[in-house]
Amino acid sequence: MAETATRPTPSERAHRAAKRYIYAWGHGRAEGDATMRDLLGGKGAGLAEMTNAGLPVPPGFTITTEACNDYFGAGERLPDGLWDDVLEAVKEVEAETGKGFGDPANPLLVSVRSGAKFSMPGMMDTVLNLGLNERTLEGLIALTGNERFGWDAYRRFIQMFGRIVMGIDGARFDAALDAAKHERGVSQDTDLDAAALREVADASKAIVREATGRDFPSDPYEQLDLAIKAVFASWFGQRARDYRKFNKIPDDLGTAVNVVTMVFGNMGDDSGTGVAFTRDPNTGENVLYGEYLTNAQGEDVVAGIRTAPKIAQMATDMPGVYAEFQRIGHQLERHYRDVQDLEFTIERGRLYMLQTRTAKRTAAAAVKIAVDLVGEGLITKAEAVARIEPAQVDQLLRDTFDPDARSTAERVAKGLNASPGAAVGRAVFSADDAVDWVGRGERVVLVRIETSPDDFHGMAVAQGILTARGGATSHAAVVARQIGKPCVAGCTELLVDYGAKRASSAETGAGFAEGDWISVDGSTGEVFLGALPTVSARYEDQTELQTVLGWADELRRLGVWTNADKPEEAAQARSYGAQGIGLCRTEHMFREGERLEIVRDAILVANAATRAKAKAATGASLDHDEAADVARFDAAMAKLEVLQEGDFEGIFRAMDGLPVVIRLIDPPLHEFLPNLEDQLVKVTRAEDAGGASTEDKELLATIKSLHEQNPMLGLRGCRLGLMIPDFVKVQTRAILTAAIAVKRAGGHPIAKIMIPLVGHVNELARTRELLEAEAKAVERAAGMEVEYKFGTMIEVPRGALTADEIAREADFFSFGTNDLTQMTFGFSRDDAEGGFLLKYVEEKILPVNPFQTLDDAVAGLMAIAVQKGRATKPTLELGICGEHGGDPDSIAKCERIGLDYVSCSPFRVPVARLAAAQAALSNAAERDR
Ligand code: PEP
Ligand code: MG
Repeated sequence: MAETATRPTPSERAHRAAKRYIYAWGHGRAEGDATMRDLLGGKGAGLAEMTNAGLPVPPGFTITTEACNDYFGAGERLPDGLWDDVLEAVKEVEAETGKGFGDPANPLLVSVRSGAKFSMPGMMDTVLNLGLNERTLEGLIALTGNERFGWDAYRRFIQMFGRIVMGIDGARFDAALDAAKHERGVSQDTDLDAAALREVADASKAIVREATGRDFPSDPYEQLDLAIKAVFASWFGQRARDYRKFNKIPDDLGTAVNVVTMVFGNMGDDSGTGVAFTRDPNTGENVLYGEYLTNAQGEDVVAGIRTAPKIAQMATDMPGVYAEFQRIGHQLERHYRDVQDLEFTIERGRLYMLQTRTAKRTAAAAVKIAVDLVGEGLITKAEAVARIEPAQVDQLLRDTFDPDARSTAERVAKGLNASPGAAVGRAVFSADDAVDWVGRGERVVLVRIETSPDDFHGMAVAQGILTARGGATSHAAVVARQIGKPCVAGCTELLVDYGAKRASSAETGAGFAEGDWISVDGSTGEVFLGALPTVSARYEDQTELQTVLGWADELRRLGVWTNADKPEEAAQARSYGAQGIGLCRTEHMFREGERLEIVRDAILVANAATRAKAKAATGASLDHDEAADVARFDAAMAKLEVLQEGDFEGIFRAMDGLPVVIRLIDPPLHEFLPNLEDQLVKVTRAEDAGGASTEDKELLATIKSLHEQNPMLGLRGCRLGLMIPDFVKVQTRAILTAAIAVKRAGGHPIAKIMIPLVGHVNELARTRELLEAEAKAVERAAGMEVEYKFGTMIEVPRGALTADEIAREADFFSFGTNDLTQMTFGFSRDDAEGGFLLKYVEEKILPVNPFQTLDDAVAGLMAIAVQKGRATKPTLELGICGEHGGDPDSIAKCERIGLDYVSCSPFRVPVARLAAAQAALSNAAERDR
């Protein structure tokens, strides 16, 4: 190799183009480094960093992401001067390697690889062996003394270049290779000799000529020019765009292009290539994990063409290289302070590192690795918390198959446990079919021989993925793990017939067709016929997750409460770490069993009885009907009171010592009655058939009288309590009586009574008068006082805007962001998501669904309410109980607004604990900046 003591420093590299588009590396020095991912992409930054760390990396250079964007900006033209700069960089690589690009005597071959800021595995293109033609091939053969190797490299190059750069269907080249194998009666590529490979190369060239009308380009510089443009173009390829959309990666980042000196893993049995993780990406266990093949090139491993042995086999095959690889893996892990995903090639016993990047991992591995790295002193607890994605916590609480059901289920096949979890769905055999079926409301499992990036859209909508070929690092496995779908890969006994849309086991003959239910266990690799029942993952068994969430608790400022209506839900949430109930929707209990009848009974006479009571209060006497209405109403309400008392006692017990926010009745009363049309039909039919019952007619009349055009803007929330005060009285009595009972039994109930839908302070003041009088009466009768707080929901924009006035009457606010979003946007929360709203999101009219992620304007109203509320009452307690309380992005906004707690459904409590800690960390980081 030539000496290169004169490599310029980053700032001074000369360039012809208006901007500096090229960063090179080689000989232990690189012009870039790990911090330059934006410009160099992950791969380019990694290669530079590894070079700087003294690791064996073949020399090369990166063309920046900026060049890609400028290329598209100029209408797919290389920026002026860039090509000259490329030629200059090629010269440097020639000097370093002592080889010449296009030199028949000593040819330099390169790979041209994509590499964006964020890893997009397999989504963009790469070309290997570039620089080969009939003449340089002669040189390669002469230098290596290996004719078979030379022809193998050449035929691969023609096929890869033909497919990726010239856009020819890869199946045509595969057919040429298969024909050669068939003709010679062999099954493996490695069984083909030089003469056979030469025939394949010739046949491939003929395919190129036939498909494009031109000869395969033999000039290495033309090859390079076309390959660079093809890699740029792959940034906007369909699969790359789909992937970015799913992963919310912006389209304007662009890809870098890495031109890297080729090293060959297919130079004989002392050569090889592989991919490996520094720890097991499925479990997080601290062992090298991966696969490698001797005498092969990189794409052979990833494509699963030959089933690759586990990396541990390398310790036997090449002990020296294995030890060096282990040492490098360890060094890189410590350098990056995280688990790495490595690509390497061994050329005649010499190890080269081709890529290092932060390893994608399953949720379970992410948690274990984070905990282990803290234990090893490599990262802090805060870093561990920041590294886990909230979605991964969610995943860890996902279902597995019921053990009894699986023990008796019919197992159809077993493959590799590529991505854990239990998936149940109907079998489909193409990505497009997966999308169609899911569009019709079905759940599917995508079954493929193997997946390619073109299948991504199907994988994204499927419950799980099953492939017949490919290993733990195959496309299906890597992508499934990343998007958190269960996956069984490499199920070799499964014969998949795309034409017939069927799959069956070669061993047992058992199988399934399109539309049949199957169950895929990504944790064990098993595939079962039928839809097996699943059981939820047990949080209690996940000690490492609990450790990380414990650290999150130390770091977070926001409390995490839960929305729970029943004692069982409360207990579940408490076991997940909930620190209180932020919303108990009392009316949810009204629908259970016999209760609905009681509630209906009360509603039927509620208005009449309320009027009669008001009349009686003036001293007037009631007629017979009025007295009957009052008696019927009071009887029903008394029954309800007893039932609610029991409900509240259960909840206070489950949450002993923790706050419980109980909201008084909120929905419009018609929600407890049959639908108007249904009742009308019932009565009309009965009348036609001889006469409807008095009850049915009475019910119909009540439904009609309660009918409103906009019930969600009508008689509901605090309005209901003000019109029919008995609702407030009865519920207050039930809450206080329950609290007293629990207290008498030695418990510590902490009751907080919440009034919904307040828009004007007078609504709250009047309700409060009613409620306090009733509470005092209960306490007097019991001879015991219970402490309770009185507060309101802020869910009407006017309530938010007048929070200073409302705070005079409230001890706490809880933001009902479901209604607040509905009323701020004027979107019906019951209809919009089934109608235009999802289209709005799809077409980017709105950035997100505002019912899922808190909209900034709604958050703005909350911020006003917080500021005004606290100005009146600095001790005011502030929380959120709308669905947004469990959404990580919304939790970040709640942190910034300065709420005291978020409240979410029990299942989301662990996610919220993590998200709250992350929100606190990023807020602190922002303040420091
Ligand atoms: C809300 O509106 O955000 C809320 C929590 O109340 P509900 O969903 O019961 O209307
Ligand atoms: Mg509401």
